[in-house]
Amino acid sequence: MTASLREQARPGSAAPDFRHVRHWIFDLDNTLYRGDCGLFAQIESRMTDFVATLTGMERGEAKRLQKELYRQYGTTLSGLMATRGIDPEAYLGFVHDIDLSSLQADPALARAVARLPGKRYIFTNGCRHHAQRILSALGLEHLFDAVWDIRTIGFIPKPDRRAYEAVVADAGLAADQAAMFDDIAHNLVAARALGMTTIWLRTGGDYGPHGGEISLAEQRHIDHETADLTAFLNGIGI
Ligand SMILES: [Mg+2]
Repeated sequence: MTASLREQARPGSAAPDFRHVRHWIFDLDNTLYRGDCGLFAQIESRMTDFVATLTGMERGEAKRLQKELYRQYGTTLSGLMATRGIDPEAYLGFVHDIDLSSLQADPALARAVARLPGKRYIFTNGCRHHAQRILSALGLEHLFDAVWDIRTIGFIPKPDRRAYEAVVADAGLAADQAAMFDDIAHNLVAARALGMTTIWLRTGGDYGPHGGEISLAEQRHIDHETADLTAFLNGIGI
């Protein structure tokens, strides 16, 4: 055995083996760009504005309702559709109307994504127009085969298993040949249950029902975790 093979065989030191993966599924917000750039905070703030205007609540109360809907229905939008019958298009247009000037092109990430063999997708609980704006700002717009947004999944969002079944059916892919990347650990549970390889983006943010704390049950659904998507992609065996 050569020195390099011995090195690879030592537990914990081998490059993660992704040679089985032919479908690369990426969440968008706080996954393809860093969670601390303030972009998603703008969206969250506009979600609160929307709820406040809709309900006549003051902002603090509207934010509590927004978070409660998120916890209960998976997205604030799904909660507002279920409980208030709102028009999703009006909501999506409003909350995603944000300033992207803090987002820089990321040629290193573009190179890392471009080397991935097979098909690449975006799977977001947000909307397609927002995804395309983000991808353009990052310089990634030419690298993906499809964008699955909240409409594609019939307004049933991640982490609901039906959302994953919808995209698997749409792409005609074998889940055990897919890898999924998401900054919200809870979104990886159904992906892993379907047989996907899962990668949690550790952002340090607190968005989501579990924040930085992941329950023991969910930890079993995370195959890999990283705080640096580009370095991770450059380090895997493909
Ligand atoms: Mg995200």
